[in-house]
Amino acid sequence: MRQTTQEVIEQYDRYVMNTYVRSPLVLVKGKGSRVWDLDGHEYLDVFPGWGVSGIGHCHPWVMKALRGQSTKLIHVSNNYYHVLQWRLAKQLIDSSFDGKVFFANSGAEVIEAAIKLTRRWGRLSAVQASGQAGTAGSPRDEIIVMDQSFHGRTMGALSATGQAKYQEGFEPLLPGFPCVPFNDLERVRRAVTPKTVAILLEPIQGEGGIRVAGDSFLRGIRQLADQHRLLVIYDEIQTGMGRTGRLFAYQHSGIEPDIMLLAKTLGGGFPIGAMVAKRHVADALTPGTHASTFGGSPLACTMALAVFEAIEKQRLLDRVVHFGEVIMDRLSALKARCPIIREVRGRGLMIGIELSVDGRPIVDACRAKRLLINCTQGTVLRLLPAMTITRAQLDQALGILEEVLLRQTS
Ligand SMILES: *Cc1c(COP(=O)(O)O)cnc(C)c1O
Repeated sequence: MRQTTQEVIEQYDRYVMNTYVRSPLVLVKGKGSRVWDLDGHEYLDVFPGWGVSGIGHCHPWVMKALRGQSTKLIHVSNNYYHVLQWRLAKQLIDSSFDGKVFFANSGAEVIEAAIKLTRRWGRLSAVQASGQAGTAGSPRDEIIVMDQSFHGRTMGALSATGQAKYQEGFEPLLPGFPCVPFNDLERVRRAVTPKTVAILLEPIQGEGGIRVAGDSFLRGIRQLADQHRLLVIYDEIQTGMGRTGRLFAYQHSGIEPDIMLLAKTLGGGFPIGAMVAKRHVADALTPGTHASTFGGSPLACTMALAVFEAIEKQRLLDRVVHFGEVIMDRLSALKARCPIIREVRGRGLMIGIELSVDGRPIVDACRAKRLLINCTQGTVLRLLPAMTITRAQLDQALGILEEVLLRQTS
């Protein structure tokens, strides 16, 4: 029995909790940067799964890994070993900095893991410091966070998120997250107290409107942290895995965090989150202090390894850099002709177009022309094209966007 879009929406209304703003589109198939709806209409998707399908929908190597592993062993609980978890951990470490990895299943979960790890590390480092100095160390448990940040919807991640609109009605929040303006080093400096243990930020704020952290801000944060023995935590859940043209966004500045958080693109569409921490920090979590029943399953790990392989062997980072420049050039030229564009921002294939008008009608108009994009913060159009998008698809997407934006103007 074939359902219509309207029928599917009615069943959602009846049975699925109404926590999302959804577009009236029922998707049945995806391949690369294209998806198809129930009626067979084809769409160009330049916002694939909020960045989850970062190497495209149903990448053939990811599909191959999924098929192969699913016939052998899908899940192994973490009281045993399997050969894929250490391989993925090694791959993450070899491509970032020396340390260890904890696996979970989503972005918010690795934010939670980082909050716990940081608190444990804060206590252990206070004990060490008091041993050296001969005074009692006071517990340090405050994590400085940024305005307009987004770290997820669980209570800890929500408390760390610098946007009141997501927090309203869910108080009491977890205390201990002083919030300061993004890219304002002086305000971060002034927020550091004897209770501060870490600074948490996104190298490019995604949901917050594609706002890029300046190199001097990142350098200043690192210096401040080293000076006060604080941890620097980068939420690379959206920026990680090649999105910005380097495997991880911190690699542009070369300024390393102590903890890096990944999810979204990491699993090629399958849920997985990873917390990467420097060795001396990672060891603060000992057996029994943290866990995830599903975390780091053979299926999730093999798919993530396939994503790494695709990025490397298909030289996807080069494409991201090149296509990022193509997009920036074309949008900058468009800005000159299109008065509703205030600013074009981003890096690699993480692009924000700030408008002087509400962006949601633009998103709808693009969808009517079979182009899928996103709008965040009301006025910022957000593009996160797959790293495997073709030049022809990119040109087609930009053509539609230009047409819609220019028509809106006149
Ligand atoms: C999506 C996102 C999260 C939350 O991830 P979930 O998997 O939805 O829990 C956290 N931080 C950033 C930067 C994100 O983009």
